[in-house]
Amino acid sequence: MHEALSDSESERAAVAARGGAVVASSRPCPVCGEPMTGRKTSACSDRCRAAKSRRRRVPLSVDEAKAIRASLTTALEAVSDAKSTLERYGNR
Ligand SMILES: [Zn+2]
Repeated sequence: MHEALSDSESERAAVAARGGAVVASSRPCPVCGEPMTGRKTSACSDRCRAAKSRRRRVPLSVDEAKAIRASLTTALEAVSDAKSTLERYGNR
């Protein structure tokens, strides 16, 4: 009697597992919309993956913004150093 119950339980689990696998493998490519096959997860082809990573770089991460701000600050300091050097020479 309890065997019938466990059969339907395992069948339900198998259906759920199959459904999950189908959903995972039929995800469309986020770049061109083609269905991705096999073990591809981020994009359908190298070209789409490159396009995706290029697109993802547009909004800056906090670390990237920090790095850019740091190099801008360094550049500004160099500019103001050069400017004060020029002014010293100009005032002479
Ligand atoms: Zn694609």
